[in-house]
Amino acid sequence: MATAAVTEKSGKVVIRNIGLLLSGDLAKPILDADTIVVDDGRIIAVGRAADCDAEGATTIIDCHGTTVAPGLIDSHVHPVAGDWTPRQGQLNWIDSSMHGGVTTMISAGEVHYPGRPKDIVGLKALAITSQRAFSNMRFSGVKVHAGAPVIEQGMVESDFRELAEAGVRLLGEIGLGSVKAGAEAREMVAWARKYGIQSTIHTGGPSIPGSGLIDKDVVLEADADIIGHINGGHTSLPYRDVCELCERSPRAIELVHNGNERIAILTARHAHELKCLHRVILGTDGPAGSGVQPLGILRMVAQLSSLADIPAEVAFCFATGNTARIRELDCGIIETGRAADFVFMDRAQHTAGKTLLESVQLGDLPGIGMVMIDGIVRCQRSRNTPPATQVPSVSH
Ligand SMILES: [Zn+2]
Repeated sequence: MATAAVTEKSGKVVIRNIGLLLSGDLAKPILDADTIVVDDGRIIAVGRAADCDAEGATTIIDCHGTTVAPGLIDSHVHPVAGDWTPRQGQLNWIDSSMHGGVTTMISAGEVHYPGRPKDIVGLKALAITSQRAFSNMRFSGVKVHAGAPVIEQGMVESDFRELAEAGVRLLGEIGLGSVKAGAEAREMVAWARKYGIQSTIHTGGPSIPGSGLIDKDVVLEADADIIGHINGGHTSLPYRDVCELCERSPRAIELVHNGNERIAILTARHAHELKCLHRVILGTDGPAGSGVQPLGILRMVAQLSSLADIPAEVAFCFATGNTARIRELDCGIIETGRAADFVFMDRAQHTAGKTLLESVQLGDLPGIGMVMIDGIVRCQRSRNTPPATQVPSVSH
């Protein structure tokens, strides 16, 4: 199993001959640049080759005209322990997702932990343990932001303060525990927010036996930071309720692979009409009932681009810059100072699309030729995507 300590340094890396550079930023999704320079895991220059100082590089990546985008962010996963998921009895699902271009994952709760504690001291202990474990060890380099307690009835304000003081920054999906009423959730969301903990609410029908329905009134009343899987995970609310959530709540609109695909497409179109595409973020909800989804984020990008008429470069922003902004991450956008997390792509072999963007708009997945996290090459030609027509090369 490929693991990485968090202290590894990249040295100076020059990425050149980029054919198309996607920024991750909705305001300007395509950059006029062909070179990125990285030092010790951070972007230090972006521009034309003549304007970038390539002197003293320890690693040179020649993109051979392929596309570079920020590493993809999966806004909704359920990790448990290391690179293992008991839900589907699989190993190396994080590594597989990295081969699908994912460089950062956000936990929506460690709910698949066998025998998950539901008493308050136990759930706090599990959250703190998960936060520590995933920050101490990165699997295949992927940054898993974990330690997301599933809130239960009986929690009081000091519990949220204690969690925050211990380094917890996320709540697991509200509704997966005993807190299912709007007013009760609203009070806990406010406590969490007061101490800098971001919240996500489960939206829609029960996900697995034992969980429950969270309807639009509960979502609106709870006012969590993220309307988690607004297209259901799996079962969606009626489309008119989803529209009402988009219109009446200012919060993030999260679309997931493990949800209702028709509603995901309709919601993206509706968000476009409402001029609130900046609120749209993507997740897989993996490894959930529909399984480990290594290409789930790429599939969401291709699905929304091809069926909701979203330009491919904009759909990539949903999975990069939008999520980074809403989740307050230092990755997701190509600009100096940000983490050097990139996915290198090209049109898949034999796609009907003439360019990478056209191929995605036609509904095909891109081929991944390399993934870099913190300036370090984590994989070259992906073992999971269709083969890229052209792949970058590395020299040291
Ligand atoms: Zn859920």
